[in-house]
Amino acid sequence: MPRKILVTSALPYANGSIHLGHLVEYIQTDIWVRFQKMSGNTCHYVCADDTHGTPIMLRAEKEGITPEQLIAKVWLEHYDDFRAFHVAFDNYGSTNSGETKEFAEGIYRTLKAENLIDVRSIEQYYDPLKKMFLPDRFIKGECPKCGAKDQYGDNCESCGAAYAPTELKNPYSAVSGAPPELRQSKHYFFKLSSPSCQQFLREWTRSGSLQAEASNKMQEWLGAEGDNKLTDWDISRDAPYFGFEIPDAPGKYFYVWLDAPVGYMGSFKQLCKTKGISFDDFWRQGSDAELYHFIGKDILYFHALFWPAMLQHAGFRTPTKLFAHGFLTVNGEKMSKSRGTFITARSYVDHVQNTEYLRYYYAAKLNGSMEDLDLNLDDFVARVNSDLIGKYINIASRSAGFISKRFDGKLADHALLAKCASTSGLAGKLVEDFPKKNLLEVLQDSAEQIAEMYEARDYSRATRTVGSLLDLINAYIDATKPWELAKDPSNVEWLQGVCSVALQAFRIITIYLKPVLPHLAKDVESFLNVGELNWQDAHELLPSGHGINAYQHLMSRLDPKCIEAMVEANKQSLQPTPPPTSQQRHAEHQQHAAAPIVTEPGDATLPLKNVTMIAPIAETISIEDFSKIDLRVAHIINAEHVEGAEKLLKLTLDIGEPQPRTVFAGIKSAYDPEKLKGRMTVMVANLAPRKMKFGLSEGMVLAASGETPGLFVLSPDSGAQPGMRIK
Ligand SMILES: [Zn+2]
Repeated sequence: MPRKILVTSALPYANGSIHLGHLVEYIQTDIWVRFQKMSGNTCHYVCADDTHGTPIMLRAEKEGITPEQLIAKVWLEHYDDFRAFHVAFDNYGSTNSGETKEFAEGIYRTLKAENLIDVRSIEQYYDPLKKMFLPDRFIKGECPKCGAKDQYGDNCESCGAAYAPTELKNPYSAVSGAPPELRQSKHYFFKLSSPSCQQFLREWTRSGSLQAEASNKMQEWLGAEGDNKLTDWDISRDAPYFGFEIPDAPGKYFYVWLDAPVGYMGSFKQLCKTKGISFDDFWRQGSDAELYHFIGKDILYFHALFWPAMLQHAGFRTPTKLFAHGFLTVNGEKMSKSRGTFITARSYVDHVQNTEYLRYYYAAKLNGSMEDLDLNLDDFVARVNSDLIGKYINIASRSAGFISKRFDGKLADHALLAKCASTSGLAGKLVEDFPKKNLLEVLQDSAEQIAEMYEARDYSRATRTVGSLLDLINAYIDATKPWELAKDPSNVEWLQGVCSVALQAFRIITIYLKPVLPHLAKDVESFLNVGELNWQDAHELLPSGHGINAYQHLMSRLDPKCIEAMVEANKQSLQPTPPPTSQQRHAEHQQHAAAPIVTEPGDATLPLKNVTMIAPIAETISIEDFSKIDLRVAHIINAEHVEGAEKLLKLTLDIGEPQPRTVFAGIKSAYDPEKLKGRMTVMVANLAPRKMKFGLSEGMVLAASGETPGLFVLSPDSGAQPGMRIK
């Protein structure tokens, strides 16, 4: 009996481009779905853009468009990117859909009827200029523990302390810069702390629906039996907010994380409507269909606690399993814009073009665990060229020519095939590993084993197993030497037999790699002149005398120069952009010039880094222009107030010269002179001395400032010595 399976990937947030980190998950899911479909199971794969929340609202405002226009634009971009990587959703929707709205409201109403919704007043920061409540990530201030400036409202990036936004010192709104006011507001809570939720989650998280690692994590979050660690979940946000208004609660909206997973249902409902599938078959309680969510380990909390508890108490089935994966590193480090390793899907397509290289590499690395996965760019090139081209594609290119030219494209009959495929006459590895077997039988016998590896999402073992089969085929070709056989007319039968064995083998391997390389498999199908290859086809051979088409080039080697260019281009995207026209500047001024777009951690299904609005980049200069500025590491040996000066501090700086220099710096508002003493900083050492009211200033120290409050003196990394030149 074929299984009925519904699969989802996490919804990408409509606030940024798809990058190679996101693609780990979509490629992982797509391979699994393709494998299920090839195996004869009914498998539906749905996803959607996650479109609601404060970051979307503010970004649309900044771009001067409506949120609907913004999410429509990003949807198209995401959709194209997924298509380019052969990620084949059966439906790709949007959470801003009628279907999702209906399910979100329905679930909410049921939870309310079950007495699982609570309304209480909470105190929250409010931006009086923007007239909006501020999510934690939109409030900044000084860390209550270490005093570091410009820290977010939830935790300090300097000392790591976690705290409530109300504990920040000198808080300001990251949206307008204004000091926020504390205001009361009614919020809606899902009563996760209720005994029925706690008990259900305790059972569910141990029921085998989670990977062992994830299950342990959940037990930690749930706490010991009787010790209720879960608190109620705040599911509402106040207007202005881009999202769905809560029924019978004017001005209150569902928090984006409430309707994001509901988007799985909404998107599937759309598919049901177009394909005539029964929604209830998959979602009713007690359904025999399987439901799997592929997610990143960072959003386990939402998927393993909130989501199943919501479904259970709203009368729907819960997920069969959650499949969490780790994060992507590039060359062993976090993806980095400055190193050029923060690579967008679009940029990969522009430079490398063939997206199946990446699918293959990710498959070779994915093992179904929550471990992080590394894209080592040198290894990437080496493996694509040695495994895909060297071991796999070459089997076809080495044998097809003889069949086309000498045998009119006809493969040997099965009797000859059986004779030629015997490995008993071959020396070395073949005989040791598979005594008394025929090469094609060895390949066919691996079908179940490889299928189990795909099923378990252990693609790395699947590709390794395929790799060892490829070694066997290549050893066979090296031992039988068709190019030698071709020289002697008396060997003509052997030549046809050996090349036919190689092409039959190539077809079986293509079946095993088809979930990973769907586009290539299509080309192979047309070259071999066969219909759509499915998993069971591995047990059959092409018939006696089957005619193939002339060999067409299937895949090129990956040129390492493409990778270099891609990395370079991603670095270049950080280079100065032309200054905006005066019109643009004017427009920016009219709105809130200082509207940094930051993401609330909970607002993004996939983590997107903060993008802050910056002042326009100045005119381009040459390296010669830059080198005229002599920057030196300076040791602040003294810092003091200047009598009568409102903004200045008097600094005494050692840059390794016989006499220290005096610099008057306009940093009094931000620094207590005592705290500057002994620090290292950076100074412009060849600036013309300037006579000031309080004395001669012999240079300038460097400090950063932006649209938001704060002033930050630069420091070199530890180890730098006074007088070192900065280049
Ligand atoms: Zn701190």
